[in-house]
Amino acid sequence: MSKVSVEEGYFGQFGGSFVPPEMKKALDYIAEQFNKYKDDPEFNEEFKYHLKEYVGRENPLTYASHLTEQLGGAKIYLKREDLNHTGSHKINNVMGQILLAKKMGAKRVIAETGAGQHGVATATVCAMFGIECVIYMGAEDTRRQALNVFRMELLGAKVVAVDKGQGRLKDAVDEALNDLVENYENTFYLLGSAVGPHPYPTMVKHFHSVISEESKRQILEKEGRLPDAVIACVGGGSNAIGAFAHYIDEPSVRLIGVEPDQAAALTKGKPAVIHGFKCLVLMDEEGNPLPTYSIAAGLDYPGIGPEHSYLQESGRAEYYTVTNEEVLAAFQTLSRTEGIIPALESAHAVAHAVKLAPTLSKDQILILNISGRGDKDVEQVFDMLKDQ
Ligand SMILES: *Cc1c(COP(=O)(O)O)cnc(C)c1O
Repeated sequence: MSKVSVEEGYFGQFGGSFVPPEMKKALDYIAEQFNKYKDDPEFNEEFKYHLKEYVGRENPLTYASHLTEQLGGAKIYLKREDLNHTGSHKINNVMGQILLAKKMGAKRVIAETGAGQHGVATATVCAMFGIECVIYMGAEDTRRQALNVFRMELLGAKVVAVDKGQGRLKDAVDEALNDLVENYENTFYLLGSAVGPHPYPTMVKHFHSVISEESKRQILEKEGRLPDAVIACVGGGSNAIGAFAHYIDEPSVRLIGVEPDQAAALTKGKPAVIHGFKCLVLMDEEGNPLPTYSIAAGLDYPGIGPEHSYLQESGRAEYYTVTNEEVLAAFQTLSRTEGIIPALESAHAVAHAVKLAPTLSKDQILILNISGRGDKDVEQVFDMLKDQ
């Protein structure tokens, strides 16, 4: 499909674009340009070149022999997004979107960030391509994440602290959207997860699907067959949808997403419109989004990508929750058994695997998506373990 239609951007009842007309115009323009370039051989060559030379792809699919042995069940492979430049999967998506922004002739890039991880990823590629970068961040978040603010500034980005509302992510999103509506002719809004109105969920999946494109090729090389399950943590859902993408049409492969038990949109949410799109949302009786909490900042979001909402409703994917204690234990288990310190986000996927693998037979295969490395979390884990 090359033309934007009304149906495009829907996943069953989920997705869509529930925004004011001026914003719809800006989003339609991005959708049109994305559709134009996503199958363009020159664009894809350039994307591949930078994934290889800058991001460091392809990254390995590592056989976790010691973890496998310790758990005593299924064979476990780790997809190593932690080895990408900047330490997580986020760079795949920001690289794709910045190349699109360049093709569209954008003079500046804007983004919003909560904990700062997406802001740092965006500032990184803007520095590399020499594009002006403005990051909106809640004023409260800039105080709590002062080091990430410094990282973004070091990379040449301007960080705008948003004082309105509660000074949190939601207020930063509002400011970024206002900026886009006013400046969309020369400004590109670079969104960080598989959420938001169309075309973002589709576009973010497209750029992250390199994860499963590689892992499928790699597991076929190593094992001569597909895995029995792919497991990934779910915040907004971008690393998970990228890890699932090339297996969605392979019914023998279970797709398993893992959420924090205090931000469980997929397991406990109800359909609603939030931030301009329809998805499963954690709400109170009156329909207000509930506050969420996760020890992993990247998973702290009351909604969820529309495609995951659909995969849940249709039964194609399964979603589970894990507790903070299970995550902390898994963080240490992977560090000790394999010498790989995972991000706290990724440790959610590990925590589920620790429960699942022993129930499976030794000839079954699991792929865990290690979405990022844990260096950023070591100090926090140190503090949490100290208090135990
Ligand atoms: C941001 C982040 C996540 C959560 O985002 P998704 O869009 O759900 O992938 C997970 N892991 C790491 C390492 C992150 O930085």
